[in-house]
Amino acid sequence: MDKKDIRSMNIEEIEKQIVALGHSKFRAKQIYNWISKGTNDFHEMKNIPQKLINDLKDNFIINNIIIERVAESKDNTKKFLLKMVDGNIIEAVLMKYKYGYSICVSTQVGCKMGCKFCASTIGGKVRDLLPGEMLGQIYTLQNYAGERIRNVVLMGSGEPLDNYDNVLKFLELVNDDDGLNISHRNITVSTVGIVPKIYELADKKLQITLAISLHEVDNDKRTALIPSNEKYPVKEILKACEYYTKITKRRITFEYSLINGVNDNIETAKALGKILKGMLCHVNLIPINAVEEKNYLPTSENNIVKFKETLENEGIVTTIRREMGSDINAACGQLRNNYIK
Ligand code: SAH
Repeated sequence: MDKKDIRSMNIEEIEKQIVALGHSKFRAKQIYNWISKGTNDFHEMKNIPQKLINDLKDNFIINNIIIERVAESKDNTKKFLLKMVDGNIIEAVLMKYKYGYSICVSTQVGCKMGCKFCASTIGGKVRDLLPGEMLGQIYTLQNYAGERIRNVVLMGSGEPLDNYDNVLKFLELVNDDDGLNISHRNITVSTVGIVPKIYELADKKLQITLAISLHEVDNDKRTALIPSNEKYPVKEILKACEYYTKITKRRITFEYSLINGVNDNIETAKALGKILKGMLCHVNLIPINAVEEKNYLPTSENNIVKFKETLENEGIVTTIRREMGSDINAACGQLRNNYIK
């Protein structure tokens, strides 16, 4: 029998499981408190009787995550290669801002979306991550930093909405008062635009930020960059976004990575401004990180500024994200990729 990942369970679920094993209900809260401290070993649960510890060990696992390697960049960004119980390697990134620590969490081992500029998709998708493994990334990096992590972005490897149920469970657990207690307002879920899941997520009315990796306005050109666009075209994504903002009242972030000579001309900026006009949203411009295997280079500094001005002239709130950690291959899946190679 496959052992269940106890870190993927809420208190009620743990309760049910241990009561079925003949133990008292109140123990669930104690177990959950240990798990919420980032405990990796049932034997550390000091106030739990031995018989229950043995039963836990026989029936459950804590998907322990081991730090395989840390790379530190000049800007204080730390990139972690993390080893899962089954030996798979994922990346997570810790960024320090004035207001505290932010973490970039992976949602899958690899990714099947096939975006042409992304290193995480080169080897395809290996498997989905469990809710407990997403939480585990936070516990592991939080213990390493010795300080509370306040912000979470699901922007590591993987497509969150292609692992929808596990991501939703993660969002429930990460927000729990007795758990990590990270506010949904401090969590961003980033997607290529899996349209039906955007509608489903909207109906959950969570206070998270939804980020759409748009990167192109023209439908055919976007399909050339992001293959899933064939199934979920720009128009449908924007319609889903309208619905999302209407239901949740939350402002959507459109991520736009500027690739030299591909999606960075001023006509495109104007077109982008036009299609987003009136929507509750803002655009986040990112200079693309060059990936060795692909022939894409970042746009010039001058062009980023022009692109931003053009969008602002169309009335779109626009920010420029400084890609952190590119000196350590920390940006977007490159570290794991080099490690695996
Ligand atoms: N699959 C999800 C989340 C993971 S990718 C998504 O697509 O949104 C997180 C962000 O990094 C996405 O906006 C993605 O397009 C972007 N990205 C991937 N490779 C990049 C690169 N080489 N340079 C800049 N951004 C990149």
